[in-house]
Amino acid sequence: MVIKSNIKGLLAELQYSTAKLIAVSKTQPIEKIKEAYDAGQRIFGENKAQEMMTKHLALPPDIEWHMIGHLQTNKVKFIAPFVTLIHSVDSVKLLEEINKQGKKANRIISCLLQVHIAKEETKFGFDPDEVISLLSGPTLSQLKNIQIHGLMGMATFTKDEELIRQEFRSLKKLFDELKKRGLPKNTMMKELSMGMSADYKIAIQEGSTFVRIGTAIFGERNYTTT
Ligand SMILES: *Cc1c(COP(=O)(O)O)cnc(C)c1O
Repeated sequence: MVIKSNIKGLLAELQYSTAKLIAVSKTQPIEKIKEAYDAGQRIFGENKAQEMMTKHLALPPDIEWHMIGHLQTNKVKFIAPFVTLIHSVDSVKLLEEINKQGKKANRIISCLLQVHIAKEETKFGFDPDEVISLLSGPTLSQLKNIQIHGLMGMATFTKDEELIRQEFRSLKKLFDELKKRGLPKNTMMKELSMGMSADYKIAIQEGSTFVRIGTAIFGERNYTTT
């Protein structure tokens, strides 16, 4: 019941914004995802390819599965046949593998480019100038089984709300600048994935179109039982 009311509460908050809700179900058991599904939620986010595949097979086919975690090239094949959107594309090598697996599955796979906006060294992603040069160069238009829908970013893990806001704002600025450029045919700047349980309110104010929320829906994750 608490999952259902958490979802209802979040949807009410998002109602007048541009943001859609992704329920981040990583480590959560099937029953809990089913509870969110029964509350009307259809978009779920996972960060491990095999876990996503298992859940995809066990749950209703109208769920949209979004990959939000760092994806290793050798795992792309597990999700290529069904994944709705890969948020976490952080290298050209990964793009090429997604393209290859998309071709095998006879699909065009939708992707976001993950941009490094945080102060922390550890966060994955392209630097803003790398995104600009990728989108100005010939590489992307050759990847016929890829469609780029926009950008994704993660803010620094901090209580400093001004820093978080600045980081989201810098991503939105890059997004808006790219939108004005001539982009490759298979690229559009439509989706901006930013905001998690701790910082989604700021992300919404800064123009997010996808918030990725786990803890605020399902409670704390228990990594030991999964
Ligand atoms: C786990 C995760 C989330 C959700 O985090 P919460 O703090 O539980 O809302 C969002 N985005 C990514 C990339 C994640 O790995």
